[in-house]
Amino acid sequence: MTHRFDPKTVKARKDHRCDLCEETITIGQSHLAQKIVSEGGWFSWRAHHVCETIRQSDPDHDLAEDAHDQVNMFYSFLCDQEPEQIRVILRGKQSSEIDRLLNLRNRNLIHYGTDYNP
Ligand SMILES: [Zn+2]
Repeated sequence: MTHRFDPKTVKARKDHRCDLCEETITIGQSHLAQKIVSEGGWFSWRAHHVCETIRQSDPDHDLAEDAHDQVNMFYSFLCDQEPEQIRVILRGKQSSEIDRLLNLRNRNLIHYGTDYNP
């Protein structure tokens, strides 16, 4: 059985990979870390604050079946939002991080967007 501990806000002591956008969480960057224990042992799930905020705004976010599915759902949801909606969801977050996600959306639109409209 899998047990998930409550996510904590931590500072990266080394580079990590975000389990949602799959981009780097850089040294010193504040992010979320969650310890998960399952039959396979312990591991840490990590995500940028903005990525987790986007994930939480997806009403279907609990339906992801595995890590790969979670990444796909993250990108599908991100690409389905208009840039203005992303700005609303991420209001109050660091502007460099908001810009990063807007760029990420634009770069991935062709793969995940339902109606790609250049
Ligand atoms: Zn991320």
